[in-house]
Amino acid sequence: MIVITQSVQLIQKIEHEWNLFYAYITRMIIDHASIGEYKLRFFPKESIACPCSKYLIEMRRHILFECSRYNKSWNLKRKSLKNILTFLKFNSGAFCF
Ligand SMILES: [Zn+2]
Repeated sequence: MIVITQSVQLIQKIEHEWNLFYAYITRMIIDHASIGEYKLRFFPKESIACPCSKYLIEMRRHILFECSRYNKSWNLKRKSLKNILTFLKFNSGAFCF
């Protein structure tokens, strides 16, 4: 009985993590996250600059390819879906609220 309970808990944990991961992917794709270009559209009075201070408007492309906040320990060429998924795995806060 303990094994079944542990298995169910593990499956629930994996489902929860995948749901979060799908949310991150969706937010990145549709550009619906608390980043500068989103705020520019919906909350124009809020700061829209990237916290790295290199861009006046924090944009999805900057976050994925250039921002020093997310490119510290690796050198990914995020031109494939696999690499973008890896980026989101290690930077889950990049496209969240
Ligand atoms: Zn930046």
